[in-house]
Amino acid sequence: MRRKLAAGNWKMNGLLANMAEVQSLIAAFPAPQPVDILICPPATLLGAIAAQCRDSAIALGGQYCHTATAGAHTGDISAPMLKDAGADYVIVGHSERRADHGETNAQVRAQAEAALEAGLNPIICLGESEAERRAGHARAVVEAQLDASLPDQGAFVIAYEPIWAIGTGLVPELGDIAEIHDAMRANLAARYGADAAKSVPLLYGGSVKPTNAAEIFALENVDGALVGGASLKAQDFGPIITALAASDGA
Ligand code: PEP
Repeated sequence: MRRKLAAGNWKMNGLLANMAEVQSLIAAFPAPQPVDILICPPATLLGAIAAQCRDSAIALGGQYCHTATAGAHTGDISAPMLKDAGADYVIVGHSERRADHGETNAQVRAQAEAALEAGLNPIICLGESEAERRAGHARAVVEAQLDASLPDQGAFVIAYEPIWAIGTGLVPELGDIAEIHDAMRANLAARYGADAAKSVPLLYGGSVKPTNAAEIFALENVDGALVGGASLKAQDFGPIITALAASDGA
């Protein structure tokens, strides 16, 4: 059965000076924990944080991977490189990468396949824009992204992140989160079978904070969160992890 996951996405934030935040998390959540805890720092910090997190409850992830294993791609990073640096996960298809780098569903799918090939667990991100939500198309958009971004097999995580909720302080109504997560579970069941669908952790992402985490985690098909801003400080990320650990089924 799937485990719950609290994943922090540091985005383009973090210097060696921020290592104390990781140390605080390690101290607050000694292994073993009832939920999985993940930090996805910038690639420059992977080695340092991997050394700190060895034998701890904190796992590490990258924020992107190229589809190739190696080659002439200046500035890029491959899935085997992330694995080599100590990562077990990688975020693919984050809306900021889709927007900033024009990543398509087909590329996101290829990245997820490259991650699986390297022994990484891809966290595949999707979600509607504000205009798509207003037009009543959120569910259709997410289902189309699911169909086109997911690999045909392998163990992966999905993060539903409405673009308009990321970094804005805005969060969908709980019923709207539940509707999308229930639809995602049904979509997975239709494609992979009911048992396989049950094994996929479905994260919500978009302005998750200590103050709203518990009510989001209480939703049946929400198995955790992908957290941006509130993952940078242990004093914010810690209560979110605690809320997940206290949620039903953790
Ligand atoms: C994210 O970066 O995936 C995210 C959800 O950011 P925030 O929590 O800051 O909205």
